[in-house]
Amino acid sequence: MEMNSKKLSFEFYPPKTNLGNEKLISIAKELELLKPEYFSVTFGAGGSTKEGTFNTCLDLKEKTNIDPCAHISGGTSNKEEIKSILNSYQEAGFRRLVVLRGDLPSGVGGYGDFPYAKDLLEYIKGAYHNQFHIEVGAYPEVHPQAKSADEDFVNFSNKVKAGADGAITQFFFLPEVYYEFVERCEKENLGIPITPGLITITNKESLFRMANNCGAKIPQKIIADLDKLNDEDVTKYGIDVLTKLGEDLLSFGAPGIHFYTINKLEPTKTIVESLKL
Ligand code: FAD
Repeated sequence: MEMNSKKLSFEFYPPKTNLGNEKLISIAKELELLKPEYFSVTFGAGGSTKEGTFNTCLDLKEKTNIDPCAHISGGTSNKEEIKSILNSYQEAGFRRLVVLRGDLPSGVGGYGDFPYAKDLLEYIKGAYHNQFHIEVGAYPEVHPQAKSADEDFVNFSNKVKAGADGAITQFFFLPEVYYEFVERCEKENLGIPITPGLITITNKESLFRMANNCGAKIPQKIIADLDKLNDEDVTKYGIDVLTKLGEDLLSFGAPGIHFYTINKLEPTKTIVESLKL
């Protein structure tokens, strides 16, 4: 596959203020120059509202020329709530979704009508047929709540077979975990692109916290190197690490890269430019 056919996507979360919205649009306009396939917007993560996802997608659709991709998670919602959200996405002309289960906020008892992402995916396929291009989440290092790695893979495989068009991985730092996961998907003939999701490194503490939450292993060398660096050098170091990781993944045959931008232009922009796509 030619390097220039690689697909980029950038993930944002819905800002909580008007100023945040304005900043995000100016970042999106800069990132638009890198010719991504879509901008995705998270749903209900980190305390954001569901309306926030819709409004941010709409804003991106109106103010850039890039397709928005709305995340949707079953969470505690019932069928009616999900239907009304999907109808609003459909009416606004959104054509792409990332379909997820979501995580329960602490203190909340249980999931709603869609306990697993596969249940929501099946509902969407039944009610909306092929109106949406659907990505799902993948966990090369195993989902933290899975009973076992094998069971997690079977669950993932069943979710894909329910009609996913592609999968985006949780972030990781060891390229081998991606290679092994993709090889396993190929053996199972899953037949969908598995796009690696990469997170940028700008702050040691938040990196360690996020990696711990999602079960991403940080190689000892990276931990030791980060330990010696001040805040400014952490970002520069992170750019080198992520550029190398991106190069390795693309040479291996990854279909593209999904960046968890954390609503920042840098270091995503520099990493993409360094990849010379
Ligand atoms: P599922 O695929 O449903 O899997 C969840 C767990 O259940 C796994 O352990 C799986 O093995 C297990 N499982 C699946 N099916 C079964 C079954 N039939 N029986 C028993 N066990 C089963 N969260 C948000 O809240 N908002 C977002 O916008 C968001 N965006 C994300 C984007 C990406 C690319 C990724 C990778 C994650 C995102 N998340 C988001 C986080 C995600 O919601 C959590 O990781 C969540 O814990 C799992 O979601 P899932 O869709 O992968 O779940």
